[in-house]
Amino acid sequence: MLPEPTTLAVFGSHLLVERSGAQEVLRDHWVLLEGRRIAAITPTRPGADIVLDRPGRFVLPGLINLHNHCFSEMIARTHTEDGAGRKNDRSIIYTVLMPLTRIGLERYSPEERMAVARLGMLQLLKGGNATVMEPFRNGMPEMFAAAEEMGLRFYGAPYLMSTPDAQEGADGVVRYRGDDGAADLATWAQLHETWQGRDHGRIRLALSPHATDTCGPDLLRTIAARARELGVLNAIHLAQSKGEVATIRERHGRTPAEYLDWLGVLNPDLLAAHCIACTDEDLGLMARRGVTVLNCPRVFARAGIVANFARFRAHGLRTAVATDGYNLDLLGELHAAAIISKTQTGDAEVATAPELIDAVTREAAAAIRRPDLGVLRVGATADLTVVDLSHPHLQPLYDPRRALVWLANRANIDSVIVDGRLLVEGGRYLHADEAAVTAAGVAAIEKLWALPEARAAFAG
Ligand SMILES: [Zn+2]
Repeated sequence: MLPEPTTLAVFGSHLLVERSGAQEVLRDHWVLLEGRRIAAITPTRPGADIVLDRPGRFVLPGLINLHNHCFSEMIARTHTEDGAGRKNDRSIIYTVLMPLTRIGLERYSPEERMAVARLGMLQLLKGGNATVMEPFRNGMPEMFAAAEEMGLRFYGAPYLMSTPDAQEGADGVVRYRGDDGAADLATWAQLHETWQGRDHGRIRLALSPHATDTCGPDLLRTIAARARELGVLNAIHLAQSKGEVATIRERHGRTPAEYLDWLGVLNPDLLAAHCIACTDEDLGLMARRGVTVLNCPRVFARAGIVANFARFRAHGLRTAVATDGYNLDLLGELHAAAIISKTQTGDAEVATAPELIDAVTREAAAAIRRPDLGVLRVGATADLTVVDLSHPHLQPLYDPRRALVWLANRANIDSVIVDGRLLVEGGRYLHADEAAVTAAGVAAIEKLWALPEARAAFAG
């Protein structure tokens, strides 16, 4: 059981604050947390039950990662790099990742699913993520249980699909039986009933239609109406491959973004992951509709594909940076977003460090309609990510924001506080044995790879 929040004071040599709507770095102040709120930001040392008083710390609002897949990332890592598993130059989503997660769902015990979820969340927390949105295979309630147990702020997004078994044909077109998603919607409603708002609102759900090619028109319309009715977010994969574009063109004579707009689904409730195969016209349309893009550059870079943060921003789209199914490393993702944006546009001035930090703080908070997150101010929710900038590789230090994006890595995360609870301190997770969590997660994943069906996903 996690302890109840008390009072906690953190000293920052640098603090990321907002002044007159603009990001600014404040020097040598304390942040005082009382319960689940920021009570003061002050130059004088406040009294508190827990005091973190170390020089060289950069105190940021808790980082927000709006698109992550613990399960498919950890089972695939070091198996799918360097093109392994790809067939006919196509995405591994339908040929490798979905079959593997399905095997995991069907063959794992609840305790094994918990073990995998705990290992992923341990990596996320140690990497500075305070809030995570996690789309995952419907039927894994353990994701919620693990998030509740480990303390991160969690938006669980169990997939909704028109089929439990999407299959990609040799022509690259995804086909499925049925077109209603009733079973997934029923499971989602049960999970919503059980988990929505748990632990003072720390655990929540989003609706998550998997993608345009795995969800039929009726299901997508139903989901959008439910999102409105329940006041929850709607998160989808959109234009994530050329195959998806071809499928939607064949079925509906439209691009994936036009398809969603035709259904009335392209609106400010929508968080659209990837969008790499969107046309410029699509992006303009999405910007007019107030859609947020979730940009995950490294999972595509791994496959030789560009996912350019600056391209989305140039169209005026709210763009958050997230990890997707690669490495669970948000700081690494910011660094990649900077490099890929600059090399793709040939312009060093795009995707600056402040802009990228906004993409995992204020902009991400705005995308999920949480003005209490993503900002250090009195009254805001007590989520903090603290980075240790005293490491030799970060010195000398002139600009902490540039140091964070260009020089730091996740091993430099010092502390993570969520809802006033100190979860990570000195780089260590405080509320479980890291080695035991790691060993149990690894054992569960090794069991999957021992199955012939898993190895078959890679065969010709
Ligand atoms: Zn994804």
